[in-house]
Amino acid sequence: MRFSEVAEYFSKVEETASRLSMSGIIAELFSKCCKGEARPLIYIIEGNVAPSHEGLDVGIGERFAIRAIASTAGYPEKKVESDCKKSGDLGTTAENLLLKKAQLSLGSSPNELLKVHAAFLKIAKLSGQGSQESKIRLLSELLNGATPLEAKYLVRFCLGKLRLGVGDPSIIDALSMLKKGGKEDKAMLERAFNLCSDLGEVAEVYLSGSDLSRFSAQPGKPIRPALAERLANADEIIEKLGKCAVEAKYDGLRMQVHLKDGEVEIYSRKLEKMTHMFPEIVEAAAFLPAKSAVFEGEALAYNAREKKYYSFQQTIQRKRKYGVEEMAKDFPLRLFAFDIMYLDGKDLTLTPYLERRKTLEKLVKGNKAIVPSDLIYTDSPKKLNEYFERATNEGLEGIIAKDLEQPYVAGARKFAWIKLKKSYGEMADTLDVVVVGYYLGKGAREEFKFGGLLAAVQNEETGELETVAKIGSGFTEGEMGSLEEMLAKIRTKEKPKGVNSKLVPDFWVTPQHVITVAADEITLSPMHTCGMMGETGYALRFPRMVSMREDKGVDREGRMRGRRSQTRAQILIVSQAIGSNGIQTADKKIPGF
Ligand code: AMP
Repeated sequence: MRFSEVAEYFSKVEETASRLSMSGIIAELFSKCCKGEARPLIYIIEGNVAPSHEGLDVGIGERFAIRAIASTAGYPEKKVESDCKKSGDLGTTAENLLLKKAQLSLGSSPNELLKVHAAFLKIAKLSGQGSQESKIRLLSELLNGATPLEAKYLVRFCLGKLRLGVGDPSIIDALSMLKKGGKEDKAMLERAFNLCSDLGEVAEVYLSGSDLSRFSAQPGKPIRPALAERLANADEIIEKLGKCAVEAKYDGLRMQVHLKDGEVEIYSRKLEKMTHMFPEIVEAAAFLPAKSAVFEGEALAYNAREKKYYSFQQTIQRKRKYGVEEMAKDFPLRLFAFDIMYLDGKDLTLTPYLERRKTLEKLVKGNKAIVPSDLIYTDSPKKLNEYFERATNEGLEGIIAKDLEQPYVAGARKFAWIKLKKSYGEMADTLDVVVVGYYLGKGAREEFKFGGLLAAVQNEETGELETVAKIGSGFTEGEMGSLEEMLAKIRTKEKPKGVNSKLVPDFWVTPQHVITVAADEITLSPMHTCGMMGETGYALRFPRMVSMREDKGVDREGRMRGRRSQTRAQILIVSQAIGSNGIQTADKKIPGF
């Protein structure tokens, strides 16, 4: 298929707001695909060149894209820049300028979809000296063979700004619609996707006519993590589950470990590869008595000298690219394994919890760095409460109760796992914060073009707005849509004056909206600038939006107007009132060790 045809469909998708008709358009696009084309097409729709856990990023900077457009369209770079200032989008500028192309390109043939994908892949893999020049050359070659509309999407893709608003759920619907006319195969497609996190692969298998219901977990392909539901107390949990396993809930880093013929790969909760950061876990996993395995756990940094576990804040420092060996020596990790999904050729995701647990315990028996999570089995709310009290007194976050019969529910929040957490002196009051930026949606949220907010409070001394939270929950679907609409109008190209932030959201906005948020506690974070001392500022933990504050706004100096407002000074007072500066001190004994 020609990429120009793909571009026509992308344009149709952009014109529709309804998810159903979006899936219909994508289904029609899939119907035009020849063998082998659906897979790369799906990666492109997702804004990637490969499944996202491969970590391949096309990453052409705006400056370089400007050069490629200028050379293809035959205009000076200044002209490209000035058109972009007007249009606000380099993709649209590429389209505009190619329509008025000043020079004819000789001998360029139209782009095929597979050729475009191969070029994107090449661009993503280029690194080191001279790589930017090669990337510009590859993009120019593509633009030379492109229609103006095609150029728009090629440029947006290379800048990482394709943003079609087509999420994975819409692609799944489209695949099912293509074959069944409706959503009949949706659940089966979802399950396969949850097991391999690669929609391209799922589509290829599905469209080849193979039986997707026999799709299984594979070492080397990250499984989308199971998530826990929340209930208010022990009685509710026992009422729901009956006799269950009650596991300690460790507050560290979730790891999914894949072992395949002696090779180890470690994925984060977001399924990013982080293998090289944790050499001691790699070494321990390689020595497990198995040829291949996929298992999961929560890792905590451990102080061997004092026989103490470090807090989440200290553990998170292990997630770094440099100085890995030193950190592994100073803060060695211990992985508390809590589930197993695959062992020596056998998919265990459909095996009941109790059996998986026994398999897991046998696998890690005697290992020093990888140990099974601590647990009790009970059907008594009293016993559950006692275990919860013991766990939280010893510095843990709480417990996760697990249904003994349930399979591993990949990629879903179900009552197979139920968490009960210490409230950390949950903030009694809500806070009002200023929105300074927002993020694009990923996955199911892609269609709202909204994924969350970057929020700040004012430093009374300097007048600056210092960031205090990235807020990703508490929104209804309707609110996401209206927040996006409201914030898109006040986007700024650069960080607004008076905002002090280490984080860079997808879009900055003029600080004028105030929202009310709830959070579990105030904690220390190296990511936020509120009340910063040295490298660390204050942050809200598990922040969620409660409501928009229509009655509040921010004046031109960034000060909040209205009935009540939060400032950095108030955040500091609140955090001190919570105790030990609101910082969780988890460096205490962990039950069972
Ligand atoms: P939450 O992030 O509060 O939704 O709680 C779920 C998280 O708890 C999981 O994603 C794990 O990272 C973590 N966790 C800690 N201990 C356990 C455990 N024993 N079983 C399952 N998850 C655990």
